[in-house]
Amino acid sequence: MNENNSGLNILKEISAKKEEHEFYEAEVKGYIPGKTKFIIIMGTVMSGLGKGIVSSSIGKLLQINGYTVTPIKLEGYLNVDSGTLNPYRHGEVYVLDDGMECDMDLGTYERLLDTTLTGKNFTTNGQIYSSILQLERKGGFLGRDVQYIPHVTGEVKRRLRKLAMDSKADIVLIEVGGTVGDLENSVYIEALRELEYEEGKENVCNVALTFILEPKFLGEQKSKAGQLGLRSLMAMGIHPDVVACRCHNLVTEKVREKISIFSNVPMDRVISVHDVDSIYKIPALMKKANLDQEILSLLKLKPKTDFYLQQKELEKIEYYIKAIDNPKKEITIGITGKYTNIRDSYASIAKALEHSGAATNTKINIKWIETTEIEDGKLDIVDALKDENGNLIKGIIVPGGFGKRGVEGKIACVRFARENNIPYLGLCYGFQMAIIEFGRNVCKLEDAHTTEVSPNCKNPVVDILPEQKKIEGLGGNMRLGGRNIDVKENTITSKLYELDNDAVKNSIKQSKTQVRERFRHRFEFNPEYLEQFEKQGIVFSGKAPQHPIMQILELPEHKFFVGVQYHPEFTSKMLFPNPLFLGFVKACIE
Ligand code: GLN
Repeated sequence: MNENNSGLNILKEISAKKEEHEFYEAEVKGYIPGKTKFIIIMGTVMSGLGKGIVSSSIGKLLQINGYTVTPIKLEGYLNVDSGTLNPYRHGEVYVLDDGMECDMDLGTYERLLDTTLTGKNFTTNGQIYSSILQLERKGGFLGRDVQYIPHVTGEVKRRLRKLAMDSKADIVLIEVGGTVGDLENSVYIEALRELEYEEGKENVCNVALTFILEPKFLGEQKSKAGQLGLRSLMAMGIHPDVVACRCHNLVTEKVREKISIFSNVPMDRVISVHDVDSIYKIPALMKKANLDQEILSLLKLKPKTDFYLQQKELEKIEYYIKAIDNPKKEITIGITGKYTNIRDSYASIAKALEHSGAATNTKINIKWIETTEIEDGKLDIVDALKDENGNLIKGIIVPGGFGKRGVEGKIACVRFARENNIPYLGLCYGFQMAIIEFGRNVCKLEDAHTTEVSPNCKNPVVDILPEQKKIEGLGGNMRLGGRNIDVKENTITSKLYELDNDAVKNSIKQSKTQVRERFRHRFEFNPEYLEQFEKQGIVFSGKAPQHPIMQILELPEHKFFVGVQYHPEFTSKMLFPNPLFLGFVKACIE
């Protein structure tokens, strides 16, 4: 279909005649159809198949082919953002630089595509409906009854086109959360069907992710569930161009043939995405299946880079994988916390450790420490901090958290790390726990605590931020997103960030004395205690510019004892581990 008779142009012609019609064109000023290509990734059979990983791997391959890409995740839920979601149910709440609290998949995109995303890369049904209702109240629909089609679908398409324009990306990767069968996705899928009509087939590529069952009692792969999943997608008017088959083992040719015949997708575009031990192996697996060239040809695009350059980029990933696969050392690090039984709730921390592990050729095992058991006396602190072989773990991380559950156990872990010279990295709540521990046991401040847990404690060494006090209430009251931090010269932290080395350039470094990291908190170190703490040897090496908010603490005499009020795990990238994590891991190895 050429650009002139694409659906969008037909629609424009009708609109120009000013007659009443059934199309709805939410305006995106300056949008040029055909300029941006769209790749849609949807899942069938079940959720949790790793659509984000497949989608970001496709993005990575397209980047390697010389194209710029930007992702968007369409979430089915009615929450406006992920800020109030329980990480136990939904995985970690990932925070973007602009303060958007979103799904952890956005973290996968940022890490793999080495990019900084914004709230425009994340939409929920909650956002869609609140825009629609706001516009309706303003009379924005000019007397029309507001309908799912064309108005709600129109709003979905408007957001996609706005992202295409604002990001200036060549290709937008659209990931629909959940699965095709979910009721809450039906409007998204309808909008995407319309999008293909309006943009023209050569501008939209549909990738369906499906699941091939391999029940133990049968010992063979079964494609029926996958076939039915694809059928429901086709029943909704979307025909897949590519089918990615998730499976424990390599999907057999026979099963791929069945999927192919059932969905009219040629065998070359039915690929096996079987389990691998690191998600970073997926791009190579897809490259081997020639998926990038298949997608480019569907979108009538040619690679902009030559084979040699593509190989060089792939080698970087291979190098990383080799480092993970052939570690020279192995260590165990303990992570404390409330949601320790679900790995997803600390996904970015696990990844940040993997990045540092690859950079140091070390396999890092994580021991999750349930701190409530320490405070209940069920578990002795020394036993809690032992690895599988009965040796003391090499380092301790206290990650972000909220509320009083397990707090005393966390404080006990910090104390153990401080007193026994074990590397310690405190992340957000872990920074606050270090303050409390130091206040109680070094500054001898009786009943030192955070007012989050003990509002009437004698020594509120951690207290609510004055700016947050005014906006109490659940949701929307946190200090969120990327902020610059003034880092003191000649400190452990300034050395870790290599601020004095002009030759080192990265997205965290802002200037010789500033770094940019991401925050999500309401409480802070109470500056009234600053002098007392500093007198006892704690160094506050980072603070907010123009505010007395302390953001980094360190103990210079200790092997490695650093706490930060922010979340360095959100800025760690595959080929550029966050410097604090790297420093911590190096100290643990020593
Ligand atoms: N609960 C603490 C606060 O609100 C820490 C938050 C966090 O760890 N993300 O300040």
